[in-house]
Amino acid sequence: MQIGFIGLGNMGAPMAANLAKAGHQVLGFDTAGVTVEGVTQVETATDAVTGADAVITMLPNGAILRAVTDQVIPAMSKGAVLIDCSTVDVDSARAVAEQAIGSGLLSVDAPVSGGIGGASAGTLTFMAGGSEDAFAKAAPLFDIMGQKAVHCGKAGAGQAAKICNNMILGVTMIATCEAFALADKLGLDRQKMFDVVSTSSGYSWTMNAYCPAPGVGPQSPADNDYTPGFAAELMLKDLRLSQQAADSADADTPMGQVATSLYEQFVEKEDGLGRDFSAMLPRFEKRGRE
Ligand code: NAD
Repeated sequence: MQIGFIGLGNMGAPMAANLAKAGHQVLGFDTAGVTVEGVTQVETATDAVTGADAVITMLPNGAILRAVTDQVIPAMSKGAVLIDCSTVDVDSARAVAEQAIGSGLLSVDAPVSGGIGGASAGTLTFMAGGSEDAFAKAAPLFDIMGQKAVHCGKAGAGQAAKICNNMILGVTMIATCEAFALADKLGLDRQKMFDVVSTSSGYSWTMNAYCPAPGVGPQSPADNDYTPGFAAELMLKDLRLSQQAADSADADTPMGQVATSLYEQFVEKEDGLGRDFSAMLPRFEKRGRE
């Protein structure tokens, strides 16, 4: 396939490199002028999409996505597929899909989980929203960049799955961290706390696979001085998207709301910026009841 790839940042660059390595012809564009091995760098977004069978975007947010797609959709060939892998708001995902379909294109919103490690290793999970035809056309590319792709439903369903998952993740991380901090104050050894909770009804991915306590459980960012991993500011971005979606769908999400304001405080007023999202544990450790 000829593939246009727009947004060659931390995630986009290794994803585009994997497509090129698999033998596809990849034309890449990034406003930062990034070069990626095996990818032909072009001067404009329009150059990247002209004649492409598939166009992949991996951009910071919905506003930038909308600006880029406004520009490139008219330049894409009829029948080509537009695959947005960025994490953006559900409304932007739906608006872009509508515009693409109106121009005779196939469209999939396909945000990912797996982080930079997964992007490099080609082991991402894709959560996709769009028609059967659009998903079928994108699927061989998901197979190269990832290990799993779930077709979640129509346009926007991929973004919906992503933000619901990450709302659970943010809430659960906070619950796990505050429980460790309470256990500390009750004189409970952290290893014993892990041994019990990880095999009891309080178990979770944040406890069992990504334990926020250094030296306890499997290797995690806590064992590397909370170097991300998954940065607290990216968790904040996803939590804010969950609350934006909850507002527009009139959904009551009190735990998601609290998690959003705690990560907001942590990132914007405390020392959370640039630290892994599990660094909530040292934050709680330092605090008392007030
Ligand atoms: P990043 O900031 O490293 O990359 C974004 C790239 O887009 C940058 O290189 C930037 O120069 C480029 N860009 C910005 N505006 C542009 C434009 N108008 N035209 C072309 N290029 C433009 O971010 P990232 O970590 O690669 O994340 C990308 C997306 O993936 C985000 O939506 C993020 O939420 C999501 N995501 C990130 C992770 C992660 O662990 N980093 C995990 C899952 C999902």
